[in-house]
Amino acid sequence: MHHFDRIDGALHAERVPLGALAGAAGTPAYVYSTATLTRHYGLLREAVDSHREALGDALIAFAVKANSNLSVLATLARLGCGADTVSEGEIRRALAAGIPGDRIIFSGVGKTDAELAFAIEAGVRQINVESGAELDRLITVAASKGSAPAIAIRVNPKIGAGGHAKITTGGATDKFGVPVEEAIDLYARASGSPHLTPIGLACHIGSQITSLEPMEAAFRALREVVLTLRANGHSVSRLDLGGGLGVPYHGQTDTPSIADYAAMCAGVLDGLEVEAAFEPGRLLAANAGLLLSRVIQVNQRADGRRFLVLDAGMNDLMRPALYDAFHDLVPVRPREGELLAYDLVGPICESTDIFARDRMLPPLEAGDLVAFMSAGAYGAVLASEYNSRPLVSEVLVDGDRWAVVRSRPSYEDMWAREPRADWL
Ligand code: PLP
Repeated sequence: MHHFDRIDGALHAERVPLGALAGAAGTPAYVYSTATLTRHYGLLREAVDSHREALGDALIAFAVKANSNLSVLATLARLGCGADTVSEGEIRRALAAGIPGDRIIFSGVGKTDAELAFAIEAGVRQINVESGAELDRLITVAASKGSAPAIAIRVNPKIGAGGHAKITTGGATDKFGVPVEEAIDLYARASGSPHLTPIGLACHIGSQITSLEPMEAAFRALREVVLTLRANGHSVSRLDLGGGLGVPYHGQTDTPSIADYAAMCAGVLDGLEVEAAFEPGRLLAANAGLLLSRVIQVNQRADGRRFLVLDAGMNDLMRPALYDAFHDLVPVRPREGELLAYDLVGPICESTDIFARDRMLPPLEAGDLVAFMSAGAYGAVLASEYNSRPLVSEVLVDGDRWAVVRSRPSYEDMWAREPRADWL
């Protein structure tokens, strides 16, 4: 569900016509909808709160990696959302956007000593430890700060899931977390240190997961670990269930509902008396954003193949090149005429700069505007300036108002970041 609809035939972001927005802000540009972000957060909040007995006063911590724009984060912060972060930069962004430290979770497989120290100073809610090596370093860092931060051990339940092999994180050979037996050992080690406060476990098995079954299996494994730890005399008060719930990219209806997801989590945690945390990224942001682009030209080949050459390239929207992701493409104001097959490509000099083949679309001409839908998560955050193309801009819409929330750099801005070596 999103708030990008047609009004008098033209696609709008809430009440802002995308044609006018493109004229004022230029293309390519990501466009985010405040109402959609708000709605998605509200649906999850409501579903989770309806199971307060099993899930406790659960934290919803937006996975900043999915969309780290400060205005997007500030929008979520105002709703009471927390942040799941994986770097000092993401912690800083969350804080700058108004998310307090005690609602920030610090995850990630390779945190430096400096980042761990920064997280402690920022007073994050918990640090999710992913290995024995990290645990040892954290003890040293925490000791040097005279503190005892709350930690959770990230369990790798050997259950991977997700929309593509490249976005699976819970499989036995994935680099994330530690197997169950090791988690139990690490928890005991952490309990023995005066410089750590072990409070629970964390788990995140993958992204764009469209079945609740693997998640449920992973959470049941976590539950078993909690019971073992308690039998060993440890206290466990929090379970971080990660993110990963899939969203409908094709308008498909087979993705689990938020209500069913929350009910499943509550069913698994029932009676455990822990406080849950959720780390949704895609679920909150994917359908709250689109990538607005203009047709540069149509390359109609003599052999019949028809390329729609857009001003957005793989440097602006990497997901199709990175893991074959699907994005619906819709004309902002469709022309009359029979549907035609187009290969959707960008201007980048790479064969992987292709978004889709043989998409059936109404006739398109140079100058027409199109929108890649469901681009609000893992879109702008993965963008680069490859081929010396200025970094894509971002716009936030709220009702009938809009603002550029990341401006496109000028070429001078870009060169200014590259001071010439003084011998040149
Ligand atoms: N939490 C962790 C630890 C992650 O690694 C990720 C994504 O990879 C997420 C949460 C967010 O996942 P998603 O956007 O699928 O909800």
